[in-house]
Amino acid sequence: MNQITMLTIHAQFGGVQETIHPVVLQDELHLVLIDCGYVGFLSQIEQALIENGLSAANLTHVYITHQDHDHMGALADLKRKYPKIQIVTSGGEAPYISGAEKSLRLIQAEAMQKKLPPEQQEFGRAFCALLERVQTVPVDVEVSDYEELDWCGGCTVIATPGHTPGHTSLYLKQFETMITGDAVALENGVPVIANPQFALDLAQAEKSMQKLLRYGAKEWICYHGGRWIP
Ligand SMILES: [Zn+2]
Repeated sequence: MNQITMLTIHAQFGGVQETIHPVVLQDELHLVLIDCGYVGFLSQIEQALIENGLSAANLTHVYITHQDHDHMGALADLKRKYPKIQIVTSGGEAPYISGAEKSLRLIQAEAMQKKLPPEQQEFGRAFCALLERVQTVPVDVEVSDYEELDWCGGCTVIATPGHTPGHTSLYLKQFETMITGDAVALENGVPVIANPQFALDLAQAEKSMQKLLRYGAKEWICYHGGRWIP
């Protein structure tokens, strides 16, 4: 039976409560986790799967929407513990996830660090250190814009660059559901550009959000913010 499950995982960073929503696609042949949380979050992911009647041991694929630490942080631990998992991402993000290229977010954070006022230097250093802890993982499958995956009744890859250059979202045809990654976040029930101050190309990010809106999905699942019914 085809099924989409939204996970809810809470995290604390410097006293700030964060909630993330990885998604699981299930059909007779595949169990796909879309994004996998922060560094050190393997057990939270495993626990969230168990709470939904699922098991990490049965995962066939992990799809990574983009290279950020809150999306791929637990990937290396997942792959080490469950080596059969196939890692899937866009051709544009693959070099950063596999470590062939340096994380664009780390490059951005290091550049910002030099301009931070003294009172924010410590926070900036801690953020860089956090990004440096992300372990890279070889990518098994690279996908491209409008590629069709045979997951969960049909799944279309949608290139949504801006937040990062190779960012992708996924559209589940049977469910008319959009899984946005960080192309769109939900704030107080309103879809917005996720962290616009960190978008590597804000104009592109705005275009990508419009691209997703044009799809007319019945339901969206935002990694930051959760479910949205337009
Ligand atoms: Zn994120």
